[in-house]
Amino acid sequence: FQRLTDGLSRSSKAMTEQVVSTFTKQPLDQAKLDELEEMLIEADLGPHSAARITARFAEEKFGKSVDEAEIKEALAEAIGDELSNRQGRFDPLVGPRPYVVLFIGVNGSGKTTTLGKIASDLKARGAKVLVVAGDTFRAAAVEQLKVWAERAGVDFMSRPINSDAAGLAFDAVQRAKDEAYDVVLIDTAGRLQNKQGLMDELHKVIRVIKKVDPEAPHETLLVLDATVGRNALAQENIFGNQIGVSGIVMTKLDGTARGGVLVPVAQASDSPIKLIGVGEGIEDLQPFDARAFARSLVG
Ligand code: GDP
Repeated sequence: FQRLTDGLSRSSKAMTEQVVSTFTKQPLDQAKLDELEEMLIEADLGPHSAARITARFAEEKFGKSVDEAEIKEALAEAIGDELSNRQGRFDPLVGPRPYVVLFIGVNGSGKTTTLGKIASDLKARGAKVLVVAGDTFRAAAVEQLKVWAERAGVDFMSRPINSDAAGLAFDAVQRAKDEAYDVVLIDTAGRLQNKQGLMDELHKVIRVIKKVDPEAPHETLLVLDATVGRNALAQENIFGNQIGVSGIVMTKLDGTARGGVLVPVAQASDSPIKLIGVGEGIEDLQPFDARAFARSLVG
């Protein structure tokens, strides 16, 4: 998890530098606990987690002088506990074939990149993969996905701009069935400015996929960008309630001081965090490991 540790260094700096410098040397008192709680909220952990973690910290350490290592250890453990039942596994190769995965989320959240990384990983594991450019609205998105598919060495399906995304999804899943693909990865549009239009389109895509295979999509992964901070919570709420989500991918955890937002998102969602993005490269996607994440976040 070296990459995660490196990637999260900005989050952890934001989280711990200030608190570590003020906590050490003097006994832990109420003022310092208030400071800790505020700091956790500022790091986007959300008021509930911040309060719980602070209370736990107080219980263990009140009146004691704590050194840097102890503070970090206690924080990492508390955050790890908050998240330990919120991690989920993503492995399309253990499911039915073809295993259909739908990627949803707002534009710019990292859907295309995540899909490309997964395609590449699956191909490396010997799977027959079909990548589908279901965002038929944006030419650039289609092009970008094509580049990822070519890089991964997997098959790619698209339609001319402004074609019906549901029609494409139907054909793709049918083809995957006929040609014995292992996995179908379907990108979707993410223009939240037209929320109802987008939700209708996603519902339609899901409906027609079910006409080919009533069990599909087997996964609906919601991709959320950590750098938008607490906006990620609002997005989880919209997509989670309106579409239904089986797992969350949180991207851009490298290079943000807002990685803490993963905590309230994980707690608000009915579905677990499955993957995290820690860079733009093909290898920068990891299974979500709550304890490792907590340790990296604290630094
Ligand atoms: P989409 O519109 O949801 O398909 O988003 P894209 O996949 O096009 O990603 C938007 C931008 O975020 C691109 O410049 C990606 O390279 C970048 N990106 C995606 N995931 C990550 C990540 O985990 N870390 C970083 N640093 N950048 C990422």
